[in-house]
Amino acid sequence: MRYVYETDAYGPDPIRDLYWSTTVPPVSLPTLHGSQKTDVAVIGAGFTGLSAAYHLGQAGVDVTVMDAQHPMFGATGRNGGFCCLGGGTISNASLDRLCGSDQRQLYRQAEKAAVDLVDQFISNHDLDVDRHSVGETLLAHKPKHAQDFPALQDEIQRDYGVTAEILEKPELRQNGLGGAFHGAITTPIGFGLNPQKYASELLQIAQTKGAKIYANTPALRIVPTTLGYDIATPNGTISCNKFIIATNGYSSEDMFPWMRARFLPVQSSVIVTRPITNQEQTAQGWTSAQMAYDSRFLLHYFRMMPNNRFLFGMRGGLHYTKRSNELIRQKIRHDFVGLFPAWRDVTIDYEWSGLVALNRSETPYIGEIPGYAGGYAGFGYHGNGVAMASYSGALLSDMVLDRIGTRPYPKAFQHIPTQFPLGRFRRYMLAPIYALAQSVDL
Ligand SMILES: Cc1cc2nc3c(=O)[nH]c(=O)nc-3n(C[C@H](O)[C@H](O)[C@H](O)COP(=O)(O)OP(=O)(O)OC[C@H]3O[C@@H](n4cnc5c(N)ncnc54)[C@H](O)[C@@H]3O)c2cc1C
Repeated sequence: MRYVYETDAYGPDPIRDLYWSTTVPPVSLPTLHGSQKTDVAVIGAGFTGLSAAYHLGQAGVDVTVMDAQHPMFGATGRNGGFCCLGGGTISNASLDRLCGSDQRQLYRQAEKAAVDLVDQFISNHDLDVDRHSVGETLLAHKPKHAQDFPALQDEIQRDYGVTAEILEKPELRQNGLGGAFHGAITTPIGFGLNPQKYASELLQIAQTKGAKIYANTPALRIVPTTLGYDIATPNGTISCNKFIIATNGYSSEDMFPWMRARFLPVQSSVIVTRPITNQEQTAQGWTSAQMAYDSRFLLHYFRMMPNNRFLFGMRGGLHYTKRSNELIRQKIRHDFVGLFPAWRDVTIDYEWSGLVALNRSETPYIGEIPGYAGGYAGFGYHGNGVAMASYSGALLSDMVLDRIGTRPYPKAFQHIPTQFPLGRFRRYMLAPIYALAQSVDL
């Protein structure tokens, strides 16, 4: 398989010290050997693929999922656990230009529906996924950003129909949000969770609905046949009527040529500290259970988990090499201590990285693959896929079942993403963007 980053980025190395894996027992699954028939084949067992499998299984469809490694191997098993609005980075002005104000509203409704979908799944199945936080808090890292919060509050009201709460700088510490910040705005939508607990429940419930799931079964090629498609894997073939590609940032350049260069994989890095004592929390002034991020262009995201371990994430490197990883290792520590200086001596117990996917359209693509009747893909959640990839799986299952219309499906999700320039070398486009953003963020 040909990939955009160095091959080690797609192997076990980035998740040697993955906190979530210590909280969930490993799932043992078979590898596909021989030939199999199924109605719907799903390639990739992250939130997108597992959610599609769950929804299809629930509708009584014969569905088979295959993962090149194992379920949750990709971003799903290694994200920050922010179940929040997002999925795209597109502005309201661009949405208006692209598809008009009604569609812009539908797009924002879809973001909210995505969070509601996960929320309802968790409550309907009475799941313990270490949930916390009432919505998500944005912290101003410059005074000017705090001045923009009233306008943002109006926009949030218009977009999502909720009232965001603004805190002025002097109020931050008394609300447990002490740090190098100039104000805060909390949108009361979303919550934090343990992504592997949520995903493994999704997997097990999908299995109870009849979904068959294979590990160590990479799709190598998708070949059209008279009856549908044959999906070739190293030890067997899956013949299906319909298929869903759910490989997002872990997609290769050659498994399915249509995907090539339509997404830009970007690395993101996370650290998790040892549990932080009450005394240490008070010393820093951060005692909040809110999941939060700062207003930098290259933002930091962080949250105190229910067990008092602190999770802190930011962008990763342009390479997956020893040197680049070491630079990111130093940078993430530097930025963490810069924002939370009282915790400079707190040990970091876990550290990992993974790949998210961006689309040129700045919106996810969730739809049919042109020229492949019965072929669908969902990808490009811009680092916000806990809710949106789950929603994407639900939408893709609606498409397979010809039941579109039961949930918001904005036109912006249906715009075929154009290819990035530079082909396999497209990640180098990020170098000037990172350099510029770093100077803007100072
Ligand atoms: C470090 C990090 C932090 C993040 N934090 C957050 C967060 O806090 N909140 C949030 O909303 N989002 C976050 N994200 C993004 C979010 O995790 C992703 O958007 C989401 O998990 C994407 O899910 P997915 O199922 O589409 O893809 P993935 O979870 O990446 O799964 C793709 C799967 O496809 C498999 N695959 C690839 N090729 C093949 C093939 N040929 N055959 C079979 N299988 C194949 C892979 O093995 C992988 O398991 C983060 C991502 C990272 C990396």
